[in-house]
Amino acid sequence: MQSTRTRLDRFISVHTGIFRRDVRVVLAQGRVMINGELATGISQVIDQFAHVLLDDQVLQSRTPVYIMLNKPAGVVSATKDEDHKTVVDLLDQADSSTHRNTLHIAGRLDFNSTGLVLLTNDGRWSRSLSAPENRIGKRYRVTLEHPIGSEYAHVFSQGMYFAYEGITTRPAQLRVIDAHTAEVCLVEGRYHQIKRMFGHFDNPVLQLQRIAIGHLELDQQLLPGQSRNLSATEVRDVLCTT
Ligand code: URA
Repeated sequence: MQSTRTRLDRFISVHTGIFRRDVRVVLAQGRVMINGELATGISQVIDQFAHVLLDDQVLQSRTPVYIMLNKPAGVVSATKDEDHKTVVDLLDQADSSTHRNTLHIAGRLDFNSTGLVLLTNDGRWSRSLSAPENRIGKRYRVTLEHPIGSEYAHVFSQGMYFAYEGITTRPAQLRVIDAHTAEVCLVEGRYHQIKRMFGHFDNPVLQLQRIAIGHLELDQQLLPGQSRNLSATEVRDVLCTT
């Protein structure tokens, strides 16, 4: 993922080959427009979605894209894969060819996990979603091979030591639905995290579905493999923690 904000002098230089030291003159000549306004300062920060014009040449014009997809099992959370279908392959034809090189996935799911996947070209938004310190909960419905023990919820809430990474997981919530089904809420996404947490109790995960990210629930109208654009309100509210 590229950096999402750049100083104007660097931006102009990268996109045109004009030396950074000469950008000041280009600006003084009134040749650069940013979002319809004359640019004045070389240190102005250019956002990833700013519309930037030099004379009549468009240097950047990107529209933010936010997509919710209901991932089926047997699909890779990636934009390209040699051997398997990817979540981007599942998008409508027009979307997948337009966006294949610009979209990324905001929080992957394992090959056999199902449910809510978000795709975007907005790096700042996806970083905010996954930053553990923002405490945006990712909620999963999990089906287990053996009955869920009464001690699990406490152990999940204390954090679990993952020796391979040498880290302790952030406190996670476990809500038992019935003997073999629970909802788990995580604020981070370690490799195979839920499987490893239940693995601690030698209890294999049979099914794992992500049902929500923050306040954004998986749209029940979406059949496995289907997707839709998020509304502006959903894009904004998913980052709210209250
Ligand atoms: N935890 C897992 O083990 N797998 C997932 O796909 C998501 C969370």
